[in-house]
Amino acid sequence: LAEAALFEVKKRGRNNYLFYAREMNRHASRQLQVINALNMALLEDEFSLVFQPQVRIDNRQVVGAEVLVRWHSSELGMVSPGEFIPVAESAGLIKALDAWVFRHALAQIKQWLAMGVEDLVFAVNLSAASFEDQGLLSALMYELEQYDVPASCIELELTEAIALMDPDSVLKRIKSLRAAGFRVSIDDFGTGYSSMSYLKRFDVDKLKIDKSFIDDLASGEPEDVAIVKAMVQLAKALNIDSIAEGVETEQQWHSLAELGCDQVQGYWCAKPLPAKDFIAFLESWE
Ligand code: C2E
Ligand code: MG
Ligand code: MG
Ligand code: MG
Repeated sequence: LAEAALFEVKKRGRNNYLFYAREMNRHASRQLQVINALNMALLEDEFSLVFQPQVRIDNRQVVGAEVLVRWHSSELGMVSPGEFIPVAESAGLIKALDAWVFRHALAQIKQWLAMGVEDLVFAVNLSAASFEDQGLLSALMYELEQYDVPASCIELELTEAIALMDPDSVLKRIKSLRAAGFRVSIDDFGTGYSSMSYLKRFDVDKLKIDKSFIDDLASGEPEDVAIVKAMVQLAKALNIDSIAEGVETEQQWHSLAELGCDQVQGYWCAKPLPAKDFIAFLESWE
């Protein structure tokens, strides 16, 4: 390390080195702050949930929503999931957080079912660590029973990070989750490691095409359109639903309709909404 530091000093000059060292320190101490605050947040219930509608393109029906966590820390203020989810993952806190989200999502869904809000599927994000946990299925089933919510109301979003696990055990897990009635989707599709052959074997219900590809769609460049088209066609060939993430404009919606994409999720339909706004959205959406 000392040698590397010395090299940096020579290469960049002393002031530059000090700048990098200070930035690294600042980054590390912010991470520590976030870890400490996260531990407290899990005890103090500083999290809340928002629901982002998912809409079918052909008949414009709302098919469900993705459940997303929000954190208002008493110490740090609002912290985005983009910052604290990776920290929770590396600090071993993500399973506790995923469990919190699942329980609170069920509590909300139970209320909505009692109000007669039916036929919606709620997608919950599962980190690779939660997915790998031996006790996952029984823990999920236990919670479903507690809240009296059928598994068919729940979709579990997995990331391509699971492709790094042993394929046979991934296959078994997905099979058992689906046999229990859950739907399973692959989140951020196209950004990770999954290979075509995995996709065929894994047998999931839905592919979520990552926002980065949908952003590029706006350029109208034939290459960018071709990539999204290929993903939609792949889903069709495998008999899986496709959904585009991060759709922000009417033009993107129309391009996706033309490509035959099944569903859309994004600011153009709605931002992630607190529970009561989600119900208002369902009532006003045509
Ligand atoms: P994700 O699962 O891919 O979720 C979609 C993200 O895109 C959300 O960010 C959502 O707010 C954002 N988004 C949706 N539509 C648009 C759009 O039209 N434009 C733009 N600019 N953004 C859009 P969010 O809520 O900040 O979450 C970020 C990531 O954090 C999620 O990405 C997911 O990987 C993770 N995450 C969020 N909640 C949970 C959770 O409860 N458990 C776990 N394990 N991860 C979560
Ligand atoms: Mg997701
Ligand atoms: Mg996603
Ligand atoms: Mg994403």
